[in-house]
Amino acid sequence: MEQELVIGIDIGGTKIDVGVIDTSGKILERMRIWTNVHEGLNVIVQNIYDAIEKITNGLKTSICGIGIGAPGQVDVKNGIVLFAPNLRWKDVELKKIIHEKYRLPVEIENDANCGALAEARLGAGSGSNNLIWITIGTGIGGGIIIDGNLIQGAGFAGGEIGHMTMKKNGPVCGCGNKGCLEALAAGPAIIHQIRKAINSGTQTVILKMIDNDLNKITVGIASNAADTGDSLSLKVLNRAGEYLGIGVANLDNILNPEVIILGGGVMEAAGHRLLKIIKNTVQNRALSVAKNNLRIELSKLGNDAGLIGASLLIQRSVDQSNKGHQ
Ligand SMILES: [Zn+2]
Repeated sequence: MEQELVIGIDIGGTKIDVGVIDTSGKILERMRIWTNVHEGLNVIVQNIYDAIEKITNGLKTSICGIGIGAPGQVDVKNGIVLFAPNLRWKDVELKKIIHEKYRLPVEIENDANCGALAEARLGAGSGSNNLIWITIGTGIGGGIIIDGNLIQGAGFAGGEIGHMTMKKNGPVCGCGNKGCLEALAAGPAIIHQIRKAINSGTQTVILKMIDNDLNKITVGIASNAADTGDSLSLKVLNRAGEYLGIGVANLDNILNPEVIILGGGVMEAAGHRLLKIIKNTVQNRALSVAKNNLRIELSKLGNDAGLIGASLLIQRSVDQSNKGHQ
């Protein structure tokens, strides 16, 4: 049988990954473009078309569909991005737009849900029907698969793990609430806490590492500083890890998954340290019945989880339509 290929598109607030992916999830061709949100929907879509044109140029195998991961709330039934604040999109009929251009099957899903699908099928949760994917980067997103099904929720807002309230009067979150997990433990929160401590006179080796330029602080630098025993970095990362651990323990108690997988930029930069703290916190806090069989692991697919997951949407839709024909 001829190997069929899928186009995967992973749309983020900063960058868009476009790839040609085979049915085993292998990325054969890929291209990254900048999102340039301020240029608006039409320009972004045109840039995606151009990228597709470039990566499919000279391809001998036919494309059987296009899978798209988009941030925010996605109406998967109708293929509409209902609300994606970091793209400034509201009620964008993306499935229709892309379908009219290519006349191929198009499926669209929330980007974190794509990550969960990819890790469940091909990554750290391979073979598991009950898993939670948490991506910790600029924000904190999540995808939850229980009994083999993604939790979508009544208004397609299920799995918003980053907006669990962890601290009653904590820092204000991008969503407007106070003390969300995202406002306490995502990348910007970690950087903000370090900058604030430096501004109030805390001594740290970080200053040397950033040539005294506070704009250069990253989670990776904090992690390197922590490795040298820097007390500020240790304090801030330990605190973020503990909040993440509490979030993971709560999720474990509620949903009792087999595996919780952690990915995203923060985990890539400081994963070894945070994973240890998260595991300890879960050990101390989760119900023993819930934690006994739980695995907590770092992502295997890393930055590619969203793109690979987007391509799996097409396989999933083919599987579903086959079931319908039986
Ligand atoms: Zn929030």
